[in-house]
Amino acid sequence: LQSVAQDFDFFYFVLQWPGAYCDSRHSCCYPKTGKPAADFGIHGLWPNYKTGGWPQNCNPDSQFDDLRVSDLMSNLQREWPTLSCPSNDGMKFWTHEWEKHGTCAESELDQHDYFEAGLKLKQKANLLHSLTNAGIKPDDKFYEIKDIESTIKKSIGFSPGLECNKDSSHNSQLYQIYLCVDTSASNFINCPVMPHGRCDSRVQFPKF
Ligand code: 5GP
Ligand code: 5GP
Ligand code: 5GP
Repeated sequence: LQSVAQDFDFFYFVLQWPGAYCDSRHSCCYPKTGKPAADFGIHGLWPNYKTGGWPQNCNPDSQFDDLRVSDLMSNLQREWPTLSCPSNDGMKFWTHEWEKHGTCAESELDQHDYFEAGLKLKQKANLLHSLTNAGIKPDDKFYEIKDIESTIKKSIGFSPGLECNKDSSHNSQLYQIYLCVDTSASNFINCPVMPHGRCDSRVQFPKF
């Protein structure tokens, strides 16, 4: 079997705040398994180059196969829920993430290990817990971006990338948190390059 070695330098581990996905210009739909918890959900684990670009859709022959992650299914439903419409069971989202991003890390992780790595990283990051402990809660109030950054840095040891979107009143709000991870998908690292954030200096942390 020929391996499809695809070089990349690090991963962005991207978490999404469901409240900010749902109250922005696109509406959201809860997965068939029910409304997700009021917690960050996994968006994806994205191979990247340290120069800022990235590979994608690296292996059209490697399709998502739910049988390979059957032992992870209930954790995926809980921790990696889809919010896109129409309502579905999540298989479409995981298929998209595997085929677009996961296939570019196949030299490091097979399909099972890719999804398992995402689940482990989420547990390790425990972001809502750290933020809440620092008084930064999803209560529709506004928080300083630098306080969100420093709280996460104190907790995991590395600065996150923060991405914002706008709610219907055009308030800047916390949408996604990017953590940089080594190529084995197990350790947080300093980001070689930060994603574009588009956050105001004060942002809303919307309820979900
Ligand atoms: P957007 O235009 O919403 O920022 O990103 C659209 C899509 O492009 C994302 O869902 C993701 O698949 C991909 N993308 C955006 N930024 C990055 C990045 O920095 N690294 C990687 N690997 N993919 C990205
Ligand atoms: P941006 O202007 O934010 O850098 O990129 C806008 C869009 O261009 C991204 O959402 C993504 O779809 C695409 N893009 C930018 N850089 C790359 C790259 O290195 N690789 C790929 N595949 N798409 C990119
Ligand atoms: P990306 O290409 O940025 O990795 O992922 C975005 C794609 O995943 C879009 O096609 C979007 O419709 C789909 N998707 C399904 N569920 C979700 C979700 O909960 N959040 C986001 N951001 N995208 C989702």
